[in-house]
Amino acid sequence: MTAPVAPAPLPPLAARTATVGGSPVRDILAVTARPEVINFAGGLPAPEFFDREGIATAFREALEHTPAQSLQYSTTEGEPSLRTALAARVTGRGLPTGADDLLITTGSQQALSLLATALVEPGDTVLVEDPCYLAALQVFGLAGARIVAVPTDADGVDPQALARLVASERPKLLYLVPTFQNPTGRTMPAERRAAVAAAAARHGVWIVEDDPYGDLRYDGEHMPWIASYEAAADRTVLLGSFSKVMAPGLRLGWLRAPAALRRACAVAKQAADLHTPTLNQLAAARYLAVLDAHVTRVRAAYGERRDAMLAALPEALPEGSQWNRPEGGMFLWVRLPSSYDTTALLPQAVENHVAYVPGAPFYAGTPDRATLRLCFVTQTPEEIEEGLRRLARGLGVA
Ligand code: PMP
Repeated sequence: MTAPVAPAPLPPLAARTATVGGSPVRDILAVTARPEVINFAGGLPAPEFFDREGIATAFREALEHTPAQSLQYSTTEGEPSLRTALAARVTGRGLPTGADDLLITTGSQQALSLLATALVEPGDTVLVEDPCYLAALQVFGLAGARIVAVPTDADGVDPQALARLVASERPKLLYLVPTFQNPTGRTMPAERRAAVAAAAARHGVWIVEDDPYGDLRYDGEHMPWIASYEAAADRTVLLGSFSKVMAPGLRLGWLRAPAALRRACAVAKQAADLHTPTLNQLAAARYLAVLDAHVTRVRAAYGERRDAMLAALPEALPEGSQWNRPEGGMFLWVRLPSSYDTTALLPQAVENHVAYVPGAPFYAGTPDRATLRLCFVTQTPEEIEEGLRRLARGLGVA
């Protein structure tokens, strides 16, 4: 008998897996899934407003009327009926779009991955808002990008700082959530959008305009997409999603991009998942006929929830705290007095059965540790009030 041979060590994981960690938000979601915790941390649509009947009808009709098509492999670009209906919707919102301008994606998150594959070489610079949507930081980090934060104020990126950074850093792309941003809830006014489009035109940089929240406006005026500014028309990629207006579990999003970039994204998508589930696409194409009526109902309820949170915040937060009043979306952004560290305080909040997301992980630049994100759409107004009483206790206010 020969002596057992010690197994040789395995080759290591790719280096990029060591440089990009898991999402702290998803980790917090695991801790806060306990039913007794009022969870302001997740970005979860309110489940009681999912249109179960309407969505069930759309799926049933897709299966009854187009059974073979619904259950079959589909094209990578997406089902023509869905792209046609979406193109009409985008055109109706002021951006002329044809079905062929669109690529259906498996959530808008996939659109970010496809764009990173199509555009970003390791070492390329990507400019982001500071703070920025976390999973975008992960995507660009995994692609090996050098992520540079653009300073922001209450209206989004500072146009002068942006123009300077675009000139000095020669970035490949600028990633923005101009409307009801995640995590801050803030919206860029029209002049800022024009300034961003002009800077991109002057210096040659792609703009990725991520807009999953734009339809969730509770007051104020509709803003034009950056993609609709002439100066940036040939260099702006617009991303949309069904997650916040229909249901995130369907994993349906879309990307509108100039032809050459869209084709490169389609090749990346072939390699990623061949195509987005056909049945979901055909059901969504049918559901688009009633989507606006549904969004109107959701908007009314979400607006009330935002107001409930705004009304209860002054009592819940320590003196000297600041917060904004988003005109839509799902989040608002809080800054406690500088002596507070929201990461260190989170366990105390969870002990009081309430959760938020600390602001620090959203920063690509120097984190502001006194910030936190609150989601105001998932709970009823009564639960929001109770959650904020618990938060006050967790922060030592009450
Ligand atoms: N972009 C932003 C700014 C988001 O907040 C989210 C979801 N939290 C996404 C993209 C991804 O959304 P989905 O993949 O569900 O369309």
